[in-house]
Amino acid sequence: MSDQRYSDQQLKQALTFIEIFDKAGEIDCGGCGYKTCREFAAAMLDGVARPTMCVELTKKVIEKLKKRDRELRETLFFQQELLDSIAVPIFHEDRSGLLAGCNRAFEALISKKLGAVKGRDISRCIDAPDFEAINQQINQSLIRNGGRQVVETRFALSDTSELVIELHKSVLTDRAGDVSGFVSVIFDITERVRHSEELTQARETAELSVSLLQKVPSGFVIVDERLKIREANRAFAAMMGEEIVEIFDSHGLRGADLAKMFSAHSLFTNFIRSGEETYSRDVEWSGKKIKLSLYSIEHGKTTGAILLDLSAPDVRKEEVKLRAEKVIRENLETVQKIANLLGENASRTENALSAVIKLFSEDDK
Ligand code: SF4
Repeated sequence: MSDQRYSDQQLKQALTFIEIFDKAGEIDCGGCGYKTCREFAAAMLDGVARPTMCVELTKKVIEKLKKRDRELRETLFFQQELLDSIAVPIFHEDRSGLLAGCNRAFEALISKKLGAVKGRDISRCIDAPDFEAINQQINQSLIRNGGRQVVETRFALSDTSELVIELHKSVLTDRAGDVSGFVSVIFDITERVRHSEELTQARETAELSVSLLQKVPSGFVIVDERLKIREANRAFAAMMGEEIVEIFDSHGLRGADLAKMFSAHSLFTNFIRSGEETYSRDVEWSGKKIKLSLYSIEHGKTTGAILLDLSAPDVRKEEVKLRAEKVIRENLETVQKIANLLGENASRTENALSAVIKLFSEDDK
């Protein structure tokens, strides 16, 4: 009957509405109340039947929905697995600031499972008043301006430890482009900040030390294992001669070759190779007697040296005093160990006394 009222082409086109695209699809199950699919198609063209009356179409739609639901669940599961595999705490709130989801790292941070806090205000998940205030402030700003914001803040955890965090927040939007929530990532930068503070402190201390050493009257120099100068003061430059002072005043001595300005440089090389902590010796330099004291800063790498001009009146008195004290100390020890140390300390005493006498005799001159 239907075939006479409508052409084959019209019926085929109507059948596509119930997802029948070929002859094999026309199963004529009668579930719609019509004997054949074509009769149902003609009824649709008559306007007396609707596609939803086809039970096969309904089954197909339900099957499709089930498949889509499975895919959606798999996608959500994969996304949650992906989030959980990230070691950085991540959470998302709805527009009102209620917790909608998070990853395992966030659960570990707040010591609570998502099931216990889902749907609650984020301030009840993170027990830190400062965090709550900042989070709310950013949420409001994101609602107004959109985009993404990053803030650094500190908050105390229940175990009394303090965290310094970098909070990255972005808006989530729905299909209409309206703000539907926020996603937040928390980076724990406590260690980084501590290192940075320590580094700043160390740098300031180093700068203070260097500026202090620039002011001391004794010569001071730090060299690396190739005897390249890393730091030196003006008193050192003055000991090395006028030309070196000019270089110092012009651009400093960093990178300069100690071997080219100080003939006793082999003492530095030998000291670095020896691996000793300290070494001290008097050297003749430009007609002056210099007390050279070497200190290992980094074994085999960096060495510091203090050069004391023993001909300077103040230095001479102080050095005489130190050497006299050394003689007294060694003699006291000698008395205590006189039986077996007499020979050795007599020699040291003679050397020290000779140095004292020489200093006095030079002073008299
Ligand atoms: S229910 Fe659908 S498949 Fe079954 S006869 Fe009707 S139109 Fe054809």
